[in-house]
Amino acid sequence: MSQSKTSITAASEANSFGKLPLTGAMLENLQRIGYEQMTPIQAASLPIALAGHDLIAQAKTGSGKTVAFALALLARLDAGRMAVQAMVLCPTRELAAQVTDEMRRLARAEENIKILSLCGGATMRPQIASLEHGAHIVVGTPGRILDHLERGSLDLSALNSLVLDEADRMLDMGFYDDIAAVAKQCPKERQTLLFSATYPEGIDKLTKQFLRSPQEVKLQSRHAATKIRQRWYEVQQDERLHAVSLLLAHFRPVSTLAFCNTKQQCRDLIDVLTAQGFQALALHGDLEQRDRDQVLIQFANRSSSVLVATDVAARGLDIDQLEAVINVDVTPEPDLYTHRIGRTGRADEEGWALSLASMDEMGRVGRIEVMQGTPTQWHKLSELTAASSEPLLPPMVTLQILGGRKDKIRPGDVLGALTGEAGFTAAQVGKINVTEFSTYVAVDRRIAKQALNKLNAGKVKGKRVKVRFLQETQN
Ligand code: ADP
Ligand code: MG
Repeated sequence: MSQSKTSITAASEANSFGKLPLTGAMLENLQRIGYEQMTPIQAASLPIALAGHDLIAQAKTGSGKTVAFALALLARLDAGRMAVQAMVLCPTRELAAQVTDEMRRLARAEENIKILSLCGGATMRPQIASLEHGAHIVVGTPGRILDHLERGSLDLSALNSLVLDEADRMLDMGFYDDIAAVAKQCPKERQTLLFSATYPEGIDKLTKQFLRSPQEVKLQSRHAATKIRQRWYEVQQDERLHAVSLLLAHFRPVSTLAFCNTKQQCRDLIDVLTAQGFQALALHGDLEQRDRDQVLIQFANRSSSVLVATDVAARGLDIDQLEAVINVDVTPEPDLYTHRIGRTGRADEEGWALSLASMDEMGRVGRIEVMQGTPTQWHKLSELTAASSEPLLPPMVTLQILGGRKDKIRPGDVLGALTGEAGFTAAQVGKINVTEFSTYVAVDRRIAKQALNKLNAGKVKGKRVKVRFLQETQN
Protein backbone atom coordinates (compact mmCIF):
# COMPACT_ATOMS: atom_id res chain seq x y z
CA MET A 1 0.00 0.00 0.00
CA SER A 2 1.46 3.39 -0.96
CA GLN A 3 2.12 6.05 1.63
CA SER A 4 -0.08 8.66 0.00
CA LYS A 5 -3.06 6.34 -0.14
CA THR A 6 -2.75 5.66 3.57
CA SER A 7 -2.85 9.31 4.47
CA ILE A 8 -5.84 10.02 2.24
CA THR A 9 -7.68 7.14 3.83
CA ALA A 10 -6.86 8.35 7.31
CA ALA A 11 -7.90 11.90 6.59
CA SER A 12 -11.17 11.05 4.95
CA GLU A 13 -12.38 8.38 7.31
CA ALA A 14 -13.11 9.33 10.85
CA ASN A 15 -13.58 5.72 11.89
CA SER A 16 -10.52 4.28 10.22
CA PHE A 17 -9.03 1.14 11.78
CA GLY A 18 -5.71 2.98 11.36
CA LYS A 19 -6.46 4.96 14.51
CA LEU A 20 -6.16 1.81 16.59
CA PRO A 21 -2.94 0.36 17.98
CA LEU A 22 -2.94 -2.54 15.50
CA THR A 23 0.00 -4.01 13.60
CA GLY A 24 0.58 -3.03 9.99
CA ALA A 25 -0.05 -6.61 8.97
CA MET A 26 -3.43 -6.57 10.66
CA LEU A 27 -4.40 -3.27 9.02
CA GLU A 28 -3.46 -4.64 5.63
CA ASN A 29 -5.44 -7.80 6.28
CA LEU A 30 -8.52 -5.75 7.22
CA GLN A 31 -8.23 -3.90 3.92
CA ARG A 32 -7.90 -7.16 2.08
CA ILE A 33 -11.04 -8.51 3.73
CA GLY A 34 -12.80 -5.30 2.72
CA TYR A 35 -13.32 -3.72 6.12
CA GLU A 36 -12.54 -0.10 5.37
CA GLN A 37 -14.05 1.62 8.36
CA MET A 38 -14.99 0.58 11.84
CA THR A 39 -18.69 0.11 12.46
CA PRO A 40 -20.01 2.27 15.33
CA ILE A 41 -19.80 -0.53 17.92
CA GLN A 42 -16.25 -1.29 16.82
CA ALA A 43 -15.27 2.39 17.05
CA ALA A 44 -16.79 2.63 20.52
CA SER A 45 -15.51 -0.61 22.00
CA LEU A 46 -12.14 -1.37 20.40
CA PRO A 47 -10.16 1.41 22.13
CA ILE A 48 -11.45 0.17 25.49
CA ALA A 49 -10.91 -3.51 24.76
CA LEU A 50 -7.45 -2.94 23.28
CA ALA A 51 -6.48 -1.00 26.40
CA GLY A 52 -7.20 -4.14 28.41
CA HIS A 53 -10.35 -3.05 30.24
CA ASP A 54 -13.32 -5.26 30.93
CA LEU A 55 -16.21 -4.30 28.71
CA ILE A 56 -19.96 -4.61 28.33
CA ALA A 57 -20.97 -3.87 24.76
CA GLN A 58 -24.52 -3.80 23.54
CA ALA A 59 -25.50 -3.26 19.92
CA LYS A 60 -28.05 -4.83 17.68
CA THR A 61 -27.50 -7.96 15.61
CA GLY A 62 -25.40 -7.40 12.52
CA SER A 63 -23.51 -4.43 13.90
CA GLY A 64 -20.11 -6.10 13.75
CA LYS A 65 -19.55 -7.26 17.31
CA THR A 66 -17.39 -10.23 16.31
CA VAL A 67 -14.65 -8.03 14.89
CA ALA A 68 -14.90 -5.85 17.97
CA PHE A 69 -13.74 -8.62 20.27
CA ALA A 70 -11.70 -10.62 17.77
CA LEU A 71 -9.23 -7.79 17.18
CA ALA A 72 -8.80 -7.30 20.91
CA LEU A 73 -8.11 -11.01 21.51
CA LEU A 74 -5.72 -11.27 18.59
CA ALA A 75 -3.78 -8.17 19.66
CA ARG A 76 -3.07 -9.66 23.08
CA LEU A 77 -2.13 -13.05 21.79
CA ASP A 78 1.42 -14.40 21.99
CA ALA A 79 1.56 -16.61 18.91
CA GLY A 80 4.85 -18.13 20.03
CA ARG A 81 3.24 -19.57 23.10
CA MET A 82 1.18 -22.67 22.38
CA ALA A 83 -1.47 -22.44 25.09
CA VAL A 84 -5.12 -21.43 25.21
CA GLN A 85 -4.94 -17.70 25.83
CA ALA A 86 -8.44 -16.65 24.81
CA MET A 87 -11.87 -18.25 24.93
CA VAL A 88 -15.17 -17.19 23.38
CA LEU A 89 -18.45 -18.62 24.70
CA CYS A 90 -21.35 -18.64 22.22
CA PRO A 91 -24.93 -19.87 22.57
CA THR A 92 -25.09 -22.28 19.62
CA ARG A 93 -22.89 -24.34 17.40
CA GLU A 94 -23.87 -22.24 14.36
CA LEU A 95 -22.86 -19.00 16.04
CA ALA A 96 -19.63 -20.54 17.30
CA ALA A 97 -18.86 -21.63 13.74
CA GLN A 98 -19.44 -18.09 12.46
CA VAL A 99 -17.21 -16.61 15.11
CA THR A 100 -14.50 -19.18 14.42
CA ASP A 101 -14.58 -18.40 10.68
CA GLU A 102 -14.42 -14.66 11.24
CA MET A 103 -11.55 -14.99 13.71
CA ARG A 104 -9.61 -17.26 11.36
CA ARG A 105 -9.93 -14.70 8.57
CA LEU A 106 -8.70 -11.95 10.86
CA ALA A 107 -5.92 -14.11 12.28
CA ARG A 108 -4.44 -14.66 8.83
CA ALA A 109 -2.45 -11.47 9.36
CA GLU A 110 -0.32 -13.12 12.02
CA GLU A 111 1.79 -16.24 11.92
CA ASN A 112 0.13 -19.60 12.59
CA ILE A 113 -2.61 -18.97 15.09
CA LYS A 114 -4.71 -21.98 15.97
CA ILE A 115 -8.37 -21.43 16.67
CA LEU A 116 -10.45 -24.37 17.73
CA SER A 117 -14.20 -24.72 17.85
CA LEU A 118 -15.57 -26.86 20.70
CA CYS A 119 -19.28 -27.45 20.49
CA GLY A 120 -21.78 -30.04 21.53
CA GLY A 121 -23.30 -32.31 18.92
CA ALA A 122 -19.87 -33.39 17.72
CA THR A 123 -17.98 -36.30 19.22
CA MET A 124 -15.49 -35.52 21.98
CA ARG A 125 -12.56 -37.58 20.75
CA PRO A 126 -11.44 -35.45 17.76
CA GLN A 127 -11.82 -32.34 19.91
CA ILE A 128 -9.62 -33.87 22.59
CA ALA A 129 -7.04 -34.81 19.97
CA SER A 130 -7.02 -31.26 18.57
CA LEU A 131 -6.61 -29.85 22.06
CA GLU A 132 -3.64 -32.16 22.61
CA HIS A 133 -2.03 -30.65 19.52
CA GLY A 134 -2.47 -27.24 21.06
CA ALA A 135 -4.58 -24.16 20.37
CA HIS A 136 -4.30 -20.43 21.02
CA ILE A 137 -8.01 -19.65 21.04
CA VAL A 138 -11.06 -21.79 21.70
CA VAL A 139 -14.59 -20.90 20.68
CA GLY A 140 -17.42 -22.99 22.01
CA THR A 141 -20.73 -23.54 23.69
CA PRO A 142 -20.75 -23.42 27.51
CA GLY A 143 -21.89 -27.02 28.02
CA ARG A 144 -19.21 -28.55 25.84
CA ILE A 145 -16.46 -26.33 27.24
CA LEU A 146 -17.52 -27.46 30.69
CA ASP A 147 -17.35 -31.10 29.59
CA HIS A 148 -13.75 -30.57 28.50
CA LEU A 149 -12.89 -28.84 31.74
CA GLU A 150 -14.39 -31.69 33.74
CA ARG A 151 -12.39 -34.27 31.78
CA GLY A 152 -9.25 -32.22 32.07
CA SER A 153 -8.81 -32.01 28.30
CA LEU A 154 -8.89 -28.21 28.31
CA ASP A 155 -6.34 -26.25 30.32
CA LEU A 156 -7.21 -22.62 30.99
CA SER A 157 -4.24 -21.71 33.18
CA ALA A 158 -2.75 -19.45 30.47
CA LEU A 159 -6.05 -17.78 29.62
CA ASN A 160 -5.99 -13.99 29.62
CA SER A 161 -9.19 -13.14 27.75
CA LEU A 162 -12.72 -14.43 28.11
CA VAL A 163 -15.53 -13.33 25.80
CA LEU A 164 -19.22 -13.91 26.43
CA ASP A 165 -20.76 -13.46 23.00
CA GLU A 166 -24.51 -13.09 22.51
CA ALA A 167 -24.87 -13.08 26.27
CA ASP A 168 -28.59 -12.37 26.10
CA ARG A 169 -29.22 -15.42 23.96
CA MET A 170 -27.06 -17.57 26.22
CA LEU A 171 -29.13 -16.49 29.23
CA ASP A 172 -32.31 -17.13 27.25
CA MET A 173 -31.18 -20.64 26.65
CA GLY A 174 -30.57 -21.25 30.32
CA PHE A 175 -26.78 -21.24 30.23
CA TYR A 176 -26.29 -19.10 33.33
CA ASP A 177 -25.03 -21.93 35.53
CA ASP A 178 -22.76 -23.33 32.84
CA ILE A 179 -21.24 -19.91 32.13
CA ALA A 180 -20.68 -19.39 35.84
CA ALA A 181 -19.04 -22.79 36.19
CA VAL A 182 -16.72 -22.08 33.25
CA ALA A 183 -15.86 -18.55 34.40
CA LYS A 184 -14.95 -19.85 37.85
CA GLN A 185 -12.30 -22.03 36.25
CA CYS A 186 -10.66 -19.14 34.40
CA PRO A 187 -7.70 -17.35 36.00
CA LYS A 188 -8.78 -14.33 38.06
CA GLU A 189 -6.29 -12.09 36.28
CA ARG A 190 -7.94 -11.81 32.92
CA GLN A 191 -9.89 -9.52 30.67
CA THR A 192 -13.58 -10.28 30.28
CA LEU A 193 -15.65 -8.88 27.41
CA LEU A 194 -19.41 -9.27 27.24
CA PHE A 195 -21.33 -8.70 24.00
CA SER A 196 -25.07 -8.66 23.69
CA ALA A 197 -27.80 -7.46 21.35
CA THR A 198 -30.21 -6.66 24.15
CA TYR A 199 -29.76 -6.01 27.83
CA PRO A 200 -32.11 -8.17 29.87
CA GLU A 201 -31.93 -8.05 33.67
CA GLY A 202 -29.92 -11.28 33.99
CA ILE A 203 -26.92 -9.60 32.37
CA ASP A 204 -26.34 -7.45 35.44
CA LYS A 205 -25.98 -10.53 37.58
CA LEU A 206 -23.47 -11.95 35.14
CA THR A 207 -21.40 -8.77 34.90
CA LYS A 208 -21.38 -8.18 38.66
CA GLN A 209 -20.09 -11.67 39.21
CA PHE A 210 -17.57 -12.02 36.41
CA LEU A 211 -16.46 -8.61 35.14
CA ARG A 212 -14.14 -6.21 36.94
CA SER A 213 -15.03 -2.52 36.79
CA PRO A 214 -16.26 -2.90 33.24
CA GLN A 215 -16.74 0.03 30.93
CA GLU A 216 -20.07 0.09 29.15
CA VAL A 217 -20.82 0.81 25.54
CA LYS A 218 -24.47 0.79 24.59
CA LEU A 219 -25.39 1.85 21.13
CA GLN A 220 -29.09 2.07 21.74
CA SER A 221 -30.15 2.97 25.15
CA ARG A 222 -33.23 1.02 25.98
CA HIS A 223 -34.98 4.09 27.24
CA ALA A 224 -34.20 6.40 24.38
CA ALA A 225 -35.53 3.79 22.00
CA THR A 226 -38.53 2.90 24.10
CA LYS A 227 -41.72 3.41 22.24
CA ILE A 228 -44.89 2.83 24.15
CA ARG A 229 -48.06 3.66 22.29
CA GLN A 230 -50.90 4.33 24.68
CA ARG A 231 -54.57 3.98 23.85
CA TRP A 232 -57.63 4.19 26.04
CA TYR A 233 -61.05 2.64 25.50
CA GLU A 234 -64.20 3.53 27.34
CA VAL A 235 -66.17 0.44 28.35
CA GLN A 236 -69.38 -0.42 30.15
CA GLN A 237 -68.77 -2.49 33.23
CA ASP A 238 -70.36 -5.60 31.68
CA GLU A 239 -68.32 -5.52 28.46
CA ARG A 240 -64.91 -5.05 30.10
CA LEU A 241 -63.65 -8.63 30.00
CA HIS A 242 -64.93 -9.24 26.49
CA ALA A 243 -63.13 -6.03 25.44
CA VAL A 244 -59.83 -7.70 26.38
CA SER A 245 -60.44 -10.42 23.78
CA LEU A 246 -61.32 -7.76 21.21
CA LEU A 247 -58.00 -6.04 21.89
CA LEU A 248 -56.10 -9.32 21.58
CA ALA A 249 -57.85 -10.23 18.32
CA HIS A 250 -57.22 -6.78 16.89
CA PHE A 251 -53.59 -6.18 17.90
CA ARG A 252 -52.54 -9.84 17.96
CA PRO A 253 -49.60 -9.29 20.32
CA VAL A 254 -47.43 -12.37 20.83
CA SER A 255 -47.10 -11.68 24.56
CA THR A 256 -49.50 -9.62 26.64
CA LEU A 257 -49.45 -8.83 30.32
CA ALA A 258 -52.99 -8.04 31.51
CA PHE A 259 -53.32 -6.26 34.84
CA CYS A 260 -56.40 -6.50 37.04
CA ASN A 261 -56.95 -4.79 40.36
CA THR A 262 -58.24 -7.88 42.15
CA LYS A 263 -57.65 -11.62 42.22
CA GLN A 264 -61.32 -12.22 41.45
CA GLN A 265 -61.08 -10.11 38.31
CA CYS A 266 -58.02 -12.18 37.27
CA ARG A 267 -59.98 -15.41 37.66
CA ASP A 268 -62.95 -14.07 35.72
CA LEU A 269 -60.74 -12.84 32.90
CA ILE A 270 -58.96 -16.18 32.60
CA ASP A 271 -62.35 -17.88 32.27
CA VAL A 272 -63.47 -15.53 29.50
CA LEU A 273 -60.18 -15.73 27.57
CA THR A 274 -59.88 -19.49 27.85
CA ALA A 275 -63.46 -19.94 26.68
CA GLN A 276 -62.59 -17.88 23.61
CA GLY A 277 -59.58 -20.02 22.75
CA PHE A 278 -56.76 -17.80 23.99
CA GLN A 279 -53.86 -19.37 25.84
CA ALA A 280 -53.89 -17.38 29.04
CA LEU A 281 -52.39 -18.10 32.43
CA ALA A 282 -52.90 -16.39 35.76
CA LEU A 283 -50.21 -15.37 38.16
CA HIS A 284 -51.48 -14.91 41.66
CA GLY A 285 -50.13 -15.09 45.16
CA ASP A 286 -51.88 -18.37 45.97
CA LEU A 287 -49.84 -20.39 43.49
CA GLU A 288 -47.36 -22.89 44.83
CA GLN A 289 -43.76 -22.19 43.87
CA ARG A 290 -43.67 -24.95 41.26
CA ASP A 291 -46.87 -23.74 39.58
CA ARG A 292 -45.63 -20.18 39.65
CA ASP A 293 -42.37 -21.27 37.99
CA GLN A 294 -44.28 -23.14 35.30
CA VAL A 295 -46.51 -20.16 34.57
CA LEU A 296 -43.58 -17.78 34.28
CA ILE A 297 -41.55 -20.19 32.17
CA GLN A 298 -44.41 -20.64 29.70
CA PHE A 299 -45.06 -16.95 29.43
CA ALA A 300 -41.41 -15.94 29.09
CA ASN A 301 -40.70 -18.63 26.48
CA ARG A 302 -43.65 -17.48 24.37
CA SER A 303 -45.83 -20.55 24.69
CA SER A 304 -48.59 -18.68 26.48
CA SER A 305 -50.10 -15.53 24.93
CA VAL A 306 -51.47 -13.76 27.97
CA LEU A 307 -50.36 -13.50 31.56
CA VAL A 308 -53.07 -12.16 33.83
CA ALA A 309 -51.83 -10.67 37.08
CA THR A 310 -52.44 -8.24 39.90
CA ASP A 311 -49.78 -5.62 40.60
CA VAL A 312 -48.67 -7.51 43.69
CA ALA A 313 -48.28 -10.83 41.86
CA ALA A 314 -46.36 -9.18 39.01
CA ARG A 315 -43.84 -7.53 41.34
CA GLY A 316 -40.28 -8.22 40.28
CA LEU A 317 -41.38 -9.79 37.03
CA ASP A 318 -39.03 -9.15 34.14
CA ILE A 319 -40.04 -10.16 30.66
CA ASP A 320 -37.82 -8.95 27.86
CA GLN A 321 -40.26 -9.35 24.99
CA LEU A 322 -43.67 -7.98 25.74
CA GLU A 323 -45.71 -6.56 22.89
CA ALA A 324 -48.61 -5.29 24.97
CA VAL A 325 -49.75 -4.38 28.43
CA ILE A 326 -53.49 -4.26 28.96
CA ASN A 327 -54.87 -2.39 31.93
CA VAL A 328 -58.12 -4.24 32.49
CA ASP A 329 -58.88 -1.95 35.43
CA VAL A 330 -57.51 1.54 36.03
CA THR A 331 -55.03 1.68 38.89
CA PRO A 332 -55.99 3.85 41.86
CA GLU A 333 -52.44 5.31 41.98
CA PRO A 334 -51.10 7.03 38.88
CA ASP A 335 -47.53 5.81 39.58
CA LEU A 336 -48.65 2.22 39.23
CA TYR A 337 -49.86 3.00 35.73
CA THR A 338 -46.37 4.13 34.70
CA HIS A 339 -44.94 1.05 36.32
CA ARG A 340 -47.33 -1.27 34.51
CA ILE A 341 -46.87 0.15 31.03
CA GLY A 342 -43.08 0.50 31.42
CA ARG A 343 -42.83 -3.26 31.07
CA THR A 344 -43.56 -3.12 27.38
CA GLY A 345 -41.58 -1.26 24.69
CA ARG A 346 -38.29 -2.69 25.89
CA ALA A 347 -35.10 -2.85 23.86
CA ASP A 348 -35.77 -1.40 20.44
CA GLU A 349 -39.23 -2.91 20.19
CA GLU A 350 -42.43 -0.95 20.13
CA GLY A 351 -45.05 -1.77 22.69
CA TRP A 352 -48.75 -1.17 23.19
CA ALA A 353 -50.25 0.08 26.42
CA LEU A 354 -54.00 -0.47 26.12
CA SER A 355 -56.31 0.62 28.91
CA LEU A 356 -59.97 0.07 29.61
CA ALA A 357 -61.90 2.58 31.69
CA SER A 358 -65.53 2.84 32.71
CA MET A 359 -67.32 6.10 33.58
CA ASP A 360 -66.79 5.66 37.30
CA GLU A 361 -63.00 5.40 36.78
CA MET A 362 -62.65 8.74 35.00
CA GLY A 363 -61.31 10.42 38.15
CA ARG A 364 -58.39 7.98 38.16
CA VAL A 365 -57.82 8.52 34.44
CA GLY A 366 -57.69 12.26 35.09
CA ARG A 367 -54.93 11.83 37.65
CA ILE A 368 -52.90 9.69 35.25
CA GLU A 369 -53.35 12.35 32.60
CA VAL A 370 -52.08 15.07 34.94
CA MET A 371 -49.09 12.96 35.96
CA GLN A 372 -48.15 12.23 32.34
CA GLY A 373 -48.72 15.79 31.24
CA THR A 374 -50.22 14.64 27.97
CA PRO A 375 -53.86 14.28 26.97
CA THR A 376 -55.36 10.81 26.95
CA GLN A 377 -55.89 9.23 23.53
CA TRP A 378 -59.41 7.82 23.42
CA HIS A 379 -60.40 5.17 20.93
CA LYS A 380 -63.66 3.32 20.38
CA LEU A 381 -64.19 -0.38 20.93
CA SER A 382 -66.07 -0.40 17.64
CA GLU A 383 -62.76 0.28 15.84
CA LEU A 384 -61.51 -3.11 16.92
CA THR A 385 -61.78 -5.77 14.27
CA ALA A 386 -60.24 -9.22 14.27
CA ALA A 387 -57.07 -8.92 12.18
CA SER A 388 -57.27 -12.56 11.15
CA SER A 389 -59.72 -15.42 11.27
CA GLU A 390 -56.98 -17.63 12.69
CA PRO A 391 -57.03 -17.96 16.46
CA LEU A 392 -54.20 -16.13 18.22
CA LEU A 393 -51.84 -18.92 19.21
CA PRO A 394 -48.44 -18.52 20.82
CA PRO A 395 -45.53 -19.28 18.46
CA MET A 396 -43.94 -21.79 20.81
CA VAL A 397 -45.01 -24.86 22.75
CA THR A 398 -43.38 -25.98 25.99
CA LEU A 399 -42.17 -29.55 26.34
CA GLN A 400 -41.53 -30.79 29.83
CA ILE A 401 -38.75 -33.29 30.24
CA LEU A 402 -39.05 -35.26 33.46
CA GLY A 403 -35.50 -34.79 34.61
CA GLY A 404 -33.54 -31.74 35.68
CA ARG A 405 -30.51 -30.57 37.61
CA LYS A 406 -30.79 -33.60 39.88
CA ASP A 407 -30.22 -35.75 36.80
CA LYS A 408 -27.35 -33.52 35.69
CA ILE A 409 -29.26 -32.35 32.62
CA ARG A 410 -27.94 -29.11 31.19
CA PRO A 411 -29.49 -26.83 28.54
CA GLY A 412 -26.82 -27.85 26.04
CA ASP A 413 -27.82 -31.50 26.38
CA VAL A 414 -31.39 -30.69 25.39
CA LEU A 415 -30.35 -28.38 22.56
CA GLY A 416 -27.91 -31.05 21.43
CA ALA A 417 -30.59 -33.75 21.42
CA LEU A 418 -32.91 -31.56 19.34
CA THR A 419 -30.38 -30.19 16.88
CA GLY A 420 -28.23 -33.31 16.69
CA GLU A 421 -29.91 -36.61 16.00
CA ALA A 422 -33.44 -35.19 15.91
CA GLY A 423 -32.35 -32.85 13.12
CA PHE A 424 -34.02 -29.60 14.15
CA THR A 425 -32.32 -26.21 13.76
CA ALA A 426 -31.34 -24.03 16.69
CA ALA A 427 -33.83 -21.43 15.40
CA GLN A 428 -36.68 -23.87 16.06
CA VAL A 429 -35.67 -24.14 19.70
CA GLY A 430 -36.49 -21.37 22.17
CA LYS A 431 -35.74 -20.89 25.82
CA ILE A 432 -34.57 -23.82 27.88
CA ASN A 433 -35.15 -23.79 31.64
CA VAL A 434 -33.65 -26.45 33.82
CA THR A 435 -35.16 -26.74 37.29
CA GLU A 436 -34.34 -29.27 39.96
CA PHE A 437 -36.53 -32.11 38.71
CA SER A 438 -37.78 -30.91 35.32
CA THR A 439 -36.47 -29.30 32.18
CA TYR A 440 -38.68 -27.08 30.05
CA VAL A 441 -37.87 -26.43 26.44
CA ALA A 442 -39.83 -24.19 24.11
CA VAL A 443 -40.03 -25.40 20.54
CA ASP A 444 -41.64 -23.94 17.45
CA ARG A 445 -45.34 -24.85 17.51
CA ARG A 446 -45.07 -26.31 13.99
CA ILE A 447 -42.59 -28.97 15.05
CA ALA A 448 -43.86 -29.51 18.61
CA LYS A 449 -45.35 -32.92 18.02
CA GLN A 450 -42.33 -34.23 16.09
CA ALA A 451 -39.97 -32.81 18.70
CA LEU A 452 -41.93 -34.54 21.45
CA ASN A 453 -41.81 -37.86 19.63
CA LYS A 454 -38.14 -37.59 18.77
CA LEU A 455 -37.18 -36.71 22.33
CA ASN A 456 -39.28 -39.55 23.70
CA ALA A 457 -37.71 -41.99 21.27
CA GLY A 458 -34.15 -40.72 21.62
CA LYS A 459 -31.82 -39.88 24.43
CA VAL A 460 -30.77 -36.82 26.40
CA LYS A 461 -27.31 -37.05 27.90
CA GLY A 462 -27.16 -40.70 26.94
CA LYS A 463 -30.31 -41.56 28.83
CA ARG A 464 -33.89 -42.18 27.83
CA VAL A 465 -36.23 -39.47 29.08
CA LYS A 466 -39.95 -38.98 29.44
CA VAL A 467 -41.27 -35.90 27.72
CA ARG A 468 -44.75 -34.39 27.63
CA PHE A 469 -46.55 -31.21 26.63
CA LEU A 470 -46.76 -28.90 29.59
CA GLN A 471 -50.18 -27.69 28.40
CA GLU A 472 -52.77 -29.30 26.21
CA THR A 473 -52.00 -28.03 22.73
CA GLN A 474 -54.72 -27.18 20.28
CA ASN A 475 -53.22 -28.81 17.24
P1 ADP B 1 -23.08 -9.04 15.29
O1 ADP B 1 -22.24 -10.01 16.09
O2 ADP B 1 -23.10 -7.67 15.89
O3 ADP B 1 -24.45 -9.56 15.02
P2 ADP B 1 -21.28 -9.71 13.13
O4 ADP B 1 -20.03 -9.65 13.88
O5 ADP B 1 -21.82 -11.07 12.85
O6 ADP B 1 -22.41 -8.84 13.87
O7 ADP B 1 -21.09 -8.87 11.77
C1 ADP B 1 -22.11 -8.69 10.84
C2 ADP B 1 -21.54 -8.52 9.45
O8 ADP B 1 -20.81 -7.30 9.32
C3 ADP B 1 -20.58 -9.62 9.05
O9 ADP B 1 -20.92 -10.07 7.78
C4 ADP B 1 -19.20 -8.96 9.04
O10 ADP B 1 -18.36 -9.55 8.11
C5 ADP B 1 -19.55 -7.53 8.69
N1 ADP B 1 -18.60 -6.54 9.23
C6 ADP B 1 -18.10 -6.50 10.47
N2 ADP B 1 -17.28 -5.43 10.62
C7 ADP B 1 -17.26 -4.78 9.46
C8 ADP B 1 -16.61 -3.59 8.98
N3 ADP B 1 -15.82 -2.88 9.79
N4 ADP B 1 -16.83 -3.22 7.72
C9 ADP B 1 -17.66 -3.93 6.92
N5 ADP B 1 -18.30 -5.04 7.29
C10 ADP B 1 -18.12 -5.48 8.56
MG1 MG C 1 -22.58 -11.76 17.06
